[in-house]
Amino acid sequence: MTDKPKPLAQLAKVKAYVPGEAPKPSKGPSYKLASNENPLGASPKAKAVYAEMGGKLEIYPDGGAGALKAAIARKNGLDPNRIVVGAGSDEIFLMLGRAYLGPGDEAISTQHAFAIYAIIGQQQGSAVIEVPEKNFTADVDAILKAVTPKTKIVWLANPNNPTGTYLPYDEVKRLHAGLPSSVLLVLDGAYAEFVRRNDYASGIELASQFDNVILTRTFSKLYGLAGLRLGWAYAPGHVIDALERVRMPFNVNLVAQAVGIAALEDDAFVEESLAHNDAELPRLVSGLRALGLEVMDSVGNFCVAKFPETKGKTAAEALAYLKDRGVTVRGLSGYRMPNHLRISVGTVAGNDAALAHLKTFMAGK
Ligand code: PMP
Repeated sequence: MTDKPKPLAQLAKVKAYVPGEAPKPSKGPSYKLASNENPLGASPKAKAVYAEMGGKLEIYPDGGAGALKAAIARKNGLDPNRIVVGAGSDEIFLMLGRAYLGPGDEAISTQHAFAIYAIIGQQQGSAVIEVPEKNFTADVDAILKAVTPKTKIVWLANPNNPTGTYLPYDEVKRLHAGLPSSVLLVLDGAYAEFVRRNDYASGIELASQFDNVILTRTFSKLYGLAGLRLGWAYAPGHVIDALERVRMPFNVNLVAQAVGIAALEDDAFVEESLAHNDAELPRLVSGLRALGLEVMDSVGNFCVAKFPETKGKTAAEALAYLKDRGVTVRGLSGYRMPNHLRISVGTVAGNDAALAHLKTFMAGK
């Protein structure tokens, strides 16, 4: 008998992340409305820099990402010394897990929260505490009730994916005020730029003011750079110091750093992307409601529809029906929402295709 090398025992519990599916290759047009990507692509200026960087691939990136941090700081009025960058915001969550979570610790997230928080907790061997939501929205009282002396992190995606719901800033502040100062509040603002609500703020002010708040953002959604993997966080100095100790020296590659700067500088593309979402999100939502589906109010670049449980009309059948017709959307069984589908805002043609196919599906044709 030979012993095989054994990974850490806690890894047995890790449930792999299921990404949004690409459409099947087909003759007709196909649309991926499954991963909340930017339907307009990426900034032309960013693409030009991407092409240019092909001539520099032999060079290591700036490990400290100085120019990128300076650009992020300039754009958002922040102190560059309090910024950390990652290969997507996912990598920043991983760094947070490595720095703050271990066996015996607890991290709190909510019932239908973004899946990566639980995965990272499991990887670190800490307890994943998922508290009930109210109406598919994070519930501050439920979160505060779950805090124990073992709590190290509270994860809050605001707005949340996959639900598209959000907490008004007053509620975020109430959550923060109720947490012990030793608990790190992670405000994940992956969809922050899309929110059009007067009572919303992503939390820059909280992260500036308090020692236990970190705000994360991404280039994957509004900036259309999901494939490049780029995210950043704004945090108190001592949190940045901890993250720097777990960060690999060249975690954000040379190309991503340069392209990220160009993307930040292309205001026209950002404005166009926001205008597109402002017009298409309500059109998609009202189109789905007109088919008799229950659709949650979403403030992101996607929406979630509830399907009937009647055979022939279920979410699982709708998912397969759309896929067969070249439109992929996201099934939410993994989020304990088996009767819901999440549909990203696509191009006008993509949204039209989703609505037209769902119309025939709901009519039972
Ligand atoms: N947070 C939320 C709420 C998300 O939906 C996503 C992407 N699906 C991320 C973070 C991670 O994005 P990225 O790693 O591409 O920055």
